[in-house]
Amino acid sequence: MKIGKDTVVSMEYELRLGGSDEVIDSSEGEGPLSFLIGHDNIVTGLEKQILGLAVGDERDIEVAPEDGYGVRDESKLIAVPRTVLPQDFEIEPGLPLELEDEQGESFPVWIAGVEGDQVMLDGNHPLADETLRFHIKITEVRKATATELTHGHVHGEGDHHHH
Ligand code: ZN
Repeated sequence: MKIGKDTVVSMEYELRLGGSDEVIDSSEGEGPLSFLIGHDNIVTGLEKQILGLAVGDERDIEVAPEDGYGVRDESKLIAVPRTVLPQDFEIEPGLPLELEDEQGESFPVWIAGVEGDQVMLDGNHPLADETLRFHIKITEVRKATATELTHGHVHGEGDHHHH
């Protein structure tokens, strides 16, 4: 079976950035990463380039920032009063948070730092502006179940998702 829309893919991967040889993320020790194709589970540039692959295929894949975690946009830096966050919340730069817009849609931000009584939140992904270099090996391709398609993510073995 080949990777296509509505298939569930498991793969081993290593991620490096730009021209660096340092592995900043990998499936080693964690087991293969599983995700659903066609539901924004992984960055678009990676998804596009694994379409048509099958179990056993191994590739080096390069993803430009535009198709990865985006290009840095300074207008996505926002300051909120410290009081907006729970009192016992430990503010640590790099920590991810979920915010809600007026429509109730949640979106991710990362703590950039503290300035006086303001907390700076950054809507840019920490890997914005980075060229992503993946080394991947496909370990499983299967059809998604009806429930997985409804939910838009993978269920089952090795999946820590709960309902
Ligand atoms: Zn689910």
